[in-house]
Amino acid sequence: MPFQLDDYDVAILKALMKDGRKSFRQISRETGITTPTVRARFERLINVGFIKSVSPVFDFGVVEENIFENKGQIRNEKQGKPQHMQQLRDANSRIKKGMKIKLDCEFCKGPIAGYLHVFKFANYERFFCCTGCMSGYKQKYAGRIESIVRKFEGKE
Ligand SMILES: [Zn+2]
Repeated sequence: MPFQLDDYDVAILKALMKDGRKSFRQISRETGITTPTVRARFERLINVGFIKSVSPVFDFGVVEENIFENKGQIRNEKQGKPQHMQQLRDANSRIKKGMKIKLDCEFCKGPIAGYLHVFKFANYERFFCCTGCMSGYKQKYAGRIESIVRKFEGKE
């Protein structure tokens, strides 16, 4: 089965849609989901490639206009906000529990159709179609994984 959003994922995504600056603790208070779970879910949504980035939203309406500026350019800047609002509305209606996210196996690169095998190390997660691919990956990248984990644990 592919990775599917559940109620927690949906609640966290909706909280972030309202304001992407929220801390894990703020999202936890708002949704009633524990802070470590919020963090883990957020990281997973990044790891599966669904959250691409959390980026600022600009309001060019507050920019002081230079009257000597090219009028066409100003018009283009003003379109930024409605486009963003449209994107938010689309996302808001599409993000639902059970929404499936397509994942390819990190090792054989084939689509993951059956049970999802997850290998978690440091703040990374890698997804595999079978235990064979997972152990193949662990073997191939053992040195790299070990050094990432060492660095991560030193930082915590
Ligand atoms: Zn595989």
